[in-house]
Amino acid sequence: MTTIKLHNTKTRKREVFTPIDPENVRMYVCGPTVYDRAHLGNARPVIVFDVLYRLLRHVYGPDHVTYVRNFTDVDDKINARAAESGRSIGEITAETTQWFLDDMAAVGALEPDHMPRATAYIPQMVTMIEGLIASGHAYAAEGHVLFAVESYKEYGALSGRSIDDMIAGARVEVAPYKRNPMDFVLWKPSDADTPGWEGPVVDGKSIGRGRPGWHIECSAMAYELLGDHFDIHGGGNDLMFPHHENEIAQSCCAHPGSGFANVWLHNEMLQVEGKKMSKSLGNFFTVRDLLDQGVPGEVIRFVMLSTHYRKPMDWTEKKAREASRTLKKWRELTVNVTASVSVPQIVLDTLAEDLNTAGVLALMHEFANNGALLELKASADLLGILTIELGGWEGRGGVLLDSWTERLTIARDSALQSKDFSEVDRLKSILTNAGVAVQMSKEGIVLAAGPEVDLEKLEALK
Ligand code: AMP
Ligand code: ZN
Repeated sequence: MTTIKLHNTKTRKREVFTPIDPENVRMYVCGPTVYDRAHLGNARPVIVFDVLYRLLRHVYGPDHVTYVRNFTDVDDKINARAAESGRSIGEITAETTQWFLDDMAAVGALEPDHMPRATAYIPQMVTMIEGLIASGHAYAAEGHVLFAVESYKEYGALSGRSIDDMIAGARVEVAPYKRNPMDFVLWKPSDADTPGWEGPVVDGKSIGRGRPGWHIECSAMAYELLGDHFDIHGGGNDLMFPHHENEIAQSCCAHPGSGFANVWLHNEMLQVEGKKMSKSLGNFFTVRDLLDQGVPGEVIRFVMLSTHYRKPMDWTEKKAREASRTLKKWRELTVNVTASVSVPQIVLDTLAEDLNTAGVLALMHEFANNGALLELKASADLLGILTIELGGWEGRGGVLLDSWTERLTIARDSALQSKDFSEVDRLKSILTNAGVAVQMSKEGIVLAAGPEVDLEKLEALK
């Protein structure tokens, strides 16, 4: 069995991964706030944790992994977007959610097993908040409920900070009703124009109409879908503090002794000119921008995989060009290869070493150079590249060329009977003129789209 090792932020060590229950390996990853197109940085955790999901499914079996990634569909940025555009919140979140799913499918990410929306879990959040108040970990003040960080002595352990350091480092304006400047919001009041729900009951009566804070969402949804103790919690390292620190505090205080997540994984940031790509810095472009410019989703995925997830990475056009060349070559090499060998153990071991995706790509280059095409295809399947779904970019493609392969095969079979090869020659010349290399041999027919392929022409003649 493959031994997976993961760098656990909590212990700052690379550890052997041992699932709590190998029959049901459970992972939670923080998902997007749905008010705008995902930028390229947002795709990084999606791709990183998709590769981990694929590895876990490979090792423990596809039916023995539960992956949850949420949608944050209640947030002040969404409210602001609705107010400025005059559109309803529901319309904006539904549209953005679908965009996200489309864009992430375009970079080859599998859908998680559960994709809970925060607004569908408000009662569970309210229950959790009421429990925290009852056990003295939270308090109500001026229509808000706040988590009392001093009630949890481990607060700060994940990111390695003490409460005093955090107070010194924080430049936030402190609301007067907070007992400690680091106390964070579990619930806040909503006015008539802001989405709201009936709030927690405090001292026998409802605190009033309001909405949850961001952190409590993930705690409540992880508890509902994965239980109080699960294997892996992931996200970008910008979420380590305060978001993940707060999730831990809430969950461990709500379910004492449970442990919450065993392993914490954080991907480093995608950067532009040495700065984190983010909406607030305005230095971002979206996944859709790239796709619309003709950068294939598979190329985006490949570039992401070529840097280790714990290192910062820069997106550059040069990397995209190189990825595109490599993928074209690998697609040509494997056009007729169905992986009938299992993934080579060296590939599994490399990936299992804290997701060394770059190491796997290096092995794949060797396979390609040595003509180990079955191994190349099997490794590609594991990483989720060279798939039919992602093949659209060089033949709209996989599918279009497949239909031509089929046509040519039928024509050749009948020509072998009738000895009249004119139809075969006609189809071959159409393909060649459109920039597709045609190889016919006893083993079968291989079509490979060259760099100059004219898909419109082929599509029109289909
Ligand atoms: P957000 O919508 O900003 O809350 O982010 C959603 C997810 O994308 C979180 O896991 C973030 O950590 C991650 N993320 C945001 N910006 C970047 C970036 N520049 N590079 C990598 N991950 C990012
Ligand atoms: Zn979260």
